[in-house]
Amino acid sequence: MLVVEAVLSPPLVIGAALAVGLGLFWGWRNYQRCPHCGRIVPRVSQGWFRCRACGRQYRKGLRVR
Ligand SMILES: [Zn+2]
Repeated sequence: MLVVEAVLSPPLVIGAALAVGLGLFWGWRNYQRCPHCGRIVPRVSQGWFRCRACGRQYRKGLRVR
């Protein structure tokens, strides 16, 4: 019981949730999906990048759900 209570204590749960949330936020900020093939590719901050998977160019703001 003591171990379970320690693991489920609010500070640890909040800390874990924050860590996961920050990780997802960082990933979402730094990566995007290639609009042509849907692969995860580095987010473009300026200009155009070429997708390594399909060889086509993409740029900032092109998103496909
Ligand atoms: Zn692609």
